[in-house]
Amino acid sequence: MIKVLIFSIFLRFCTAFRITFPPELTGIYPHVDAHFGPRLDSLSDTQKILTLVQPDRFGCKQINKLNHSLFSNDTNIEIVALILRGSKNANGIPCTFSDKILNAQKAGFTAVVVGNNIGGYWIHTMFADNKESVKITIPSVSISQNTYSGLFEYLIKTNKTIKVELTEEGVVTNKHPKMSFYEKMLYIMLLLFLFFSATTMFILGGRLLYKKVRTFCDRRNRALRLQSIPLIQYNNPNIDSDTNDTIVENEEMDVGLDICLDDRSDGIAEIQSKHKNIDKNSNDFVHNDTCGICLEDFSQGEIIKRLPCKHGFHQECVDGWLVKAGKCPICVQTVF
Ligand SMILES: [Zn+2]
Ligand SMILES: [Zn+2]
Repeated sequence: MIKVLIFSIFLRFCTAFRITFPPELTGIYPHVDAHFGPRLDSLSDTQKILTLVQPDRFGCKQINKLNHSLFSNDTNIEIVALILRGSKNANGIPCTFSDKILNAQKAGFTAVVVGNNIGGYWIHTMFADNKESVKITIPSVSISQNTYSGLFEYLIKTNKTIKVELTEEGVVTNKHPKMSFYEKMLYIMLLLFLFFSATTMFILGGRLLYKKVRTFCDRRNRALRLQSIPLIQYNNPNIDSDTNDTIVENEEMDVGLDICLDDRSDGIAEIQSKHKNIDKNSNDFVHNDTCGICLEDFSQGEIIKRLPCKHGFHQECVDGWLVKAGKCPICVQTVF
């Protein structure tokens, strides 16, 4: 009872091929058009007679030639072969759908209906490789195991004919029932969610990529401009160049080392106060006596790099910093 109910519901949502005779079988049955051969719409609207093939119902081996006069004197009536899925061909190899259709074609049938041999209500979609399918010139459709069984039993028991119509109208294009309103809404929301997620990811990814490229270009440009910063020979104004004697007391010289980075401005002012009597326009003048990066004192005569803000650093200390930040590590003035 439940199966009948399910089948009835399934039929409501599926179009099908139509049986017009006998009355007890009359109705619409679901079927699926094959993925090879001509389409069903190439068939004429004339009624057709459905019959089993001989010598067996699988049609894997050579099918007996169709004797049209056994079914009708009207030569315009087409005869359609009813074949069951499965079995093996004459070589003992499982036969394909195209084997069955080609055998029926050679025997003189104008179309083929293939019944599934498993799955009850399930309809199998028929495929064929290109090499075989190009030889097929007649249309074919597949039906469920249950539909096939009903037709097969009728033909065997009554030995009467079944009249069918095969038209495009009967093709099952969607095996699933139509979506309800809520399912449609859910589907639309899911699509919107996916769309906005993809858009957001695209924008964020683009911004990230732009930032990376920008950073790379900036660093490359800074690296190219490193050469423009002059190297000078460090000259401590508080050391007598002839005797190398320190003029100021040691504790005064150590002021620069005691600078706390968080108290940078006070430190700069303190260092600069040591140099208040020095010519600040001279080419070797720097505000500091200590490299602000490695915190090592400069040696007298040592080659250091002097930034436009007149802060000096070891070249090996400041080059990497400048490429990365482009600013003076002490006063944060932009260098380039
Ligand atoms: Zn240094
Ligand atoms: Zn500076």
